[in-house]
Amino acid sequence: MSRSPSLPERPRLDLDPDMSPNERLEALREHLEDVLEVNNQLETQLNRANSRREDLTGKVDRLERENDTLKSSSLYIATAEEMLDDGVVVKQHGNNQEVLTEVSPGIRQELEAGDRVAINDSFAVQSVLEPETDARAQAMQVDGSPEVTYDDIGGLETQIQEVREAVEQPLINADQFREVGIEPPSGVLLHGPPGTGKTMLAKAVANETDATFIKMAGSELVQKFIGEGARLVRDLFELASENEPAVIFIDEIDAIASKRTESKTSGDAEVQRTMMQLLSEMDGFDDRGEIRIIAATNRFDMLDRAILRPGRFDRLIEVPEPNVEGRVKILEIHTKGMNLADNVDLSALADDTDGFSGAELASLATEAGMFAIREERTEIHIEDFESALEKVKEEDDSAGTPIAFA
Ligand code: ATP
Repeated sequence: MSRSPSLPERPRLDLDPDMSPNERLEALREHLEDVLEVNNQLETQLNRANSRREDLTGKVDRLERENDTLKSSSLYIATAEEMLDDGVVVKQHGNNQEVLTEVSPGIRQELEAGDRVAINDSFAVQSVLEPETDARAQAMQVDGSPEVTYDDIGGLETQIQEVREAVEQPLINADQFREVGIEPPSGVLLHGPPGTGKTMLAKAVANETDATFIKMAGSELVQKFIGEGARLVRDLFELASENEPAVIFIDEIDAIASKRTESKTSGDAEVQRTMMQLLSEMDGFDDRGEIRIIAATNRFDMLDRAILRPGRFDRLIEVPEPNVEGRVKILEIHTKGMNLADNVDLSALADDTDGFSGAELASLATEAGMFAIREERTEIHIEDFESALEKVKEEDDSAGTPIAFA
């Protein structure tokens, strides 16, 4: 603690009555100088004191704010799971602890099962929070009216037919299924190599049935915190029921439905819980109305067979690499709007692209267009396709072969 500086001594004026006027004047002048000097010193001290007072006021403000923050304790986030007569069951996020707690009548009125709430140390519900729309929006892709149609998909006639039966019919003719007395398949699983049109199929169904398309990647469902994945699954179905009719498309389902490994880490258990939540949401389908679910995987061999049981993903549709006729159709689709020269023979190109996926054929067409633009032409020649073919093959090679795990 700094002490207050001592005040300068007050100048004194001693005038001897015997002084001559000149001596008196001189003494007064000296006294004036002393007074001015003391005045200067006092002014400096006053300035210093003022600036110290400002510092201290700032410090007091800060301390008061800190004190307020320390006094108001933080609240925990939980989900209201069940509304009972004698309270509410809440589940705390993070540790999944479930407790039966009380709520004030005011809060109880606006609270519904599934709401996010803030709870204090004694688990009493303090407030109801807004739904986490941001987290949902980040993890899910929602498309009110996807533009893909069945005509945009080449070489998958059988698959289109099967998807229409399993997904489109139950959405359009729900009554017919009810009258016949059969349950439509709960979920459809599309499996096959990457880029073969699985997402397109799901989008096309949503388009044909005027349904909202909601896409989520399985990898997004593998979350760090306990209960988060399951919550996202609940959100996914909630979002779908808010947007009925809806097609839910879960890509990379293998991320949460792989065969269980030997290691039983907590991460595995969490992924398992997320999958169980998905299955239980699917079980509750009947009450949900017009929601259909399509999942996709490139790793069918990795899937836990439990998800393929009846009532779950019980309709399997293989989406293979296109054969030569399929490749011709895909090339026709992707070159439809292009200005092709007469020497471009799509059948010959299809012969040369054995093993190409639909996505690779689409990029072949775009690349050929890019070669024409480079040459400042608007017409695409067969040479452009040849150069593009080399480029796409090179890219494919440099991507390397996948590493096989034992
Ligand atoms: P992934 O398994 O990698 O998610 P996917 O099977 O879902 O792939 P899509 O996303 O449907 O593949 O296809 C990617 C792109 O490839 C499409 O946007 C389209 O341009 C093209 N494509 C793939 N298959 C076909 C097809 N059968 N007909 C026409 N275009 C196709």
